[in-house]
Amino acid sequence: MNDIQQLHNTLAQAQIRITELELRNEELTDFIENAAIPLHWVDKHGKVIWANQAELDALGYTREEYIGAPIATFHADEYAIGDILSRLATNETLNNYQARLRCKDGSIKHVLISSNVRRSDGEFVHTRCFTRDITQIVLEQERMSDLIRQLEESETRLRMATDIVESSYDAIISKTLDNTITSWNKAAGQLFGYSAEEMIGKSSLLLVPQEVLEQEKQMYARLERGERIDHFETKRNTKSNQVLDVSMTLSPIIDVTGNITGISKIIRDITERKLDQQRKNDFVAMVSHELKTPLTSILSYIQMLHTKAKRSGDDFGIQTLARTEAQTKRMTQMINDFLDIARLEDARIRLVKTEFELEPLIREVIAEIQVVYASHPILLDACPEIKVYADRGKIGQVFTNLISNAIKYSPAGSDILISCALKDGKVEVAVTDHGLGISKENQEKLFERFYRVEDDRTRNISGFGIGLYLVSEILRDHDAAIHVKSAMDQGSTFSFTIAVL
Ligand code: ADP
Repeated sequence: MNDIQQLHNTLAQAQIRITELELRNEELTDFIENAAIPLHWVDKHGKVIWANQAELDALGYTREEYIGAPIATFHADEYAIGDILSRLATNETLNNYQARLRCKDGSIKHVLISSNVRRSDGEFVHTRCFTRDITQIVLEQERMSDLIRQLEESETRLRMATDIVESSYDAIISKTLDNTITSWNKAAGQLFGYSAEEMIGKSSLLLVPQEVLEQEKQMYARLERGERIDHFETKRNTKSNQVLDVSMTLSPIIDVTGNITGISKIIRDITERKLDQQRKNDFVAMVSHELKTPLTSILSYIQMLHTKAKRSGDDFGIQTLARTEAQTKRMTQMINDFLDIARLEDARIRLVKTEFELEPLIREVIAEIQVVYASHPILLDACPEIKVYADRGKIGQVFTNLISNAIKYSPAGSDILISCALKDGKVEVAVTDHGLGISKENQEKLFERFYRVEDDRTRNISGFGIGLYLVSEILRDHDAAIHVKSAMDQGSTFSFTIAVL
């Protein structure tokens, strides 16, 4: 082989080598340009000098916007990029350095940066920077920690609420809508004598006495409409079969979707309070009643003296005895009102129903009233042998109040008429006077507690505004209602209807 031929061969081999190298170069360039991992180089001044497509795509910048710009521009934390660059400058290799990059659309990407520096003859040429997007993971972690924090907070709140419930002086229980008890605190155990283990899962109806079952159903109907019921007084049975007077506050338990899933109850034992109230009422009733007896005889003596003074023409006696009589009547009226207040409480506490005839009761009331007030003729019209099943004392109270009012609010000498009418198995009883009458507006309010009509005509008539309220409460307990028909200055008729036997 001559020299020329040898040269040819060498050239041909070099050509093949160059082609191979070019191919290799092309492959490597393609590999890093199109790799799925974001890559970039930064020069010793901190400027981006190259970035692959994945990096541009990840952050959303064009090549022109990215290349040539200081890398710090794209970092959300100044401190982090300062730290990265200074550590690379001292030849450190960074592995999974966590940083935050700012994208073109303003959003932040959480990334892990792995990088070191390419040097030539010891001189900084550029960094070799790999970026891994971990935004999803970080956001997920943040969401998780947020959830954990919320969970911890609600656990704390729940623990606090449980502590409060457990240490409460009041019994607190909850149950499902089908009356299954789901929680039972310590005070419930003390009040009813059953432990939580005995009661959870059982029916709450175990605690409800027969006599209040109907009332209980009405309460639930209200709760199911989403109402809350405060301080409602009722009765409950204990494990030892004692019946307690209790005050209950009931609230619906509403789940996240707004559905009522159960009922919570706060129950307080008011047996002692009720007994105290009862003793106080009994005392007031007893004192008022005792006061009335001597007053009634004082009145009849005054009336006798009055007649005597009239007969003997003793003007001074006539005048003073008339005033004394008026004052004594006032006092009797006030004692009656006072008695009403005591009876008002009593009406709610106990109702004793018996069978009795209406007419004798009305006659008794009339006789009792006429001892004190002879000023108005009281006429009883057609109340033949009508029997009712009711609380005799309390229905007597209704008559006393209506007749006393008829006298109080009508001029002396005018008639008071009591009538009965049978209709559809019921009797309608009415008390009619020819007195002051009541305006339409006042008629609506008469039965409210402590309501009195305040005008020139009633100013000097004493009272507490309790009589008609008591009448309506007593009748309500008998499933009856009081009605009024009245015309100003002409008179009024108060009537009610109750079932006959
Ligand atoms: P009091 O008589 O103590 O004020 P009531 O509750 O018995 O209380 O009556 C409430 C009000 O109704 C009275 O203040 C009075 O104005 C009016 N009223 C009651 N009965 C009559 C009546 N028969 N005629 C006119 N007004 C009446």
